[in-house]
Amino acid sequence: MGDNEDTWRLGGKAGLPAAWLRRAGRSVLDAVFPPVCVSCNRLVSTPQALCPICWSGLTFLEKPYCPVLGLPFAHDLGDGVLSVEAIADPPVFERLRSAVVYEGAARHLVHSLKYADRGDLAPMMASWMLRASDGLVDGCEGIVAVPLHRYRLWRRRFNQSADLARHIATLSGRPFLAHALIRQRRTLTQVGLGARARVENVRGAFRVPVDEAGVLVGKRLLLIDDVYTTGATVEAASRALLKAGAVSVSVLTFARALPGHI
Ligand SMILES: [Zn+2]
Repeated sequence: MGDNEDTWRLGGKAGLPAAWLRRAGRSVLDAVFPPVCVSCNRLVSTPQALCPICWSGLTFLEKPYCPVLGLPFAHDLGDGVLSVEAIADPPVFERLRSAVVYEGAARHLVHSLKYADRGDLAPMMASWMLRASDGLVDGCEGIVAVPLHRYRLWRRRFNQSADLARHIATLSGRPFLAHALIRQRRTLTQVGLGARARVENVRGAFRVPVDEAGVLVGKRLLLIDDVYTTGATVEAASRALLKAGAVSVSVLTFARALPGHI
């Protein structure tokens, strides 16, 4: 039995390595609370992981894609080639990136974080977002989350976008500007609304408080949301940030619906 740092002696000559005790402790815990897939609850070998079936159902968004909207291209079209969508309807934000397509296990993760008190999922989801950010996190001077109206925040107790933003700020060392943006009026949930109704629903919904405006002037900001669907919400939020003096706003979401899948 060694006397190195990883050894924890239990009195007298009987020595048990700490690593062995940790493993034993974990196996006892695993026997009582076996680790389960964070999406579907099948048994898995590692805590806070997805099972192979859920994992294989995820579509990570990777290059080649439109440099503005991050829409995947079937073939590499070369530098600077934009998607038809970005040309036909240029967004007010500078660029958009997302980690995964909003379907299957990704949809389940978003719903669990939002409605099922699964704040424990946020660190994993934030790390996927950071990996997918294509330099947007490194290049920003402040991170802002899409806010909930205070009534909805009171009912739900938890803003999933703010939680993701907080974890991305911690992972990257970029400042999280938690009070930079408020939702000044209650809006309908965007779920089930058509594209035009979504734009109307969130028009003028966001505002930068007067005492926060000075912090944003001249800054390159990164706006965080859980899901991008038609873009109406992040467009409205970006407009408010730009009006308050931000020099640019880019958007990073966990998941995104692809055109034709909304
Ligand atoms: Zn699973």
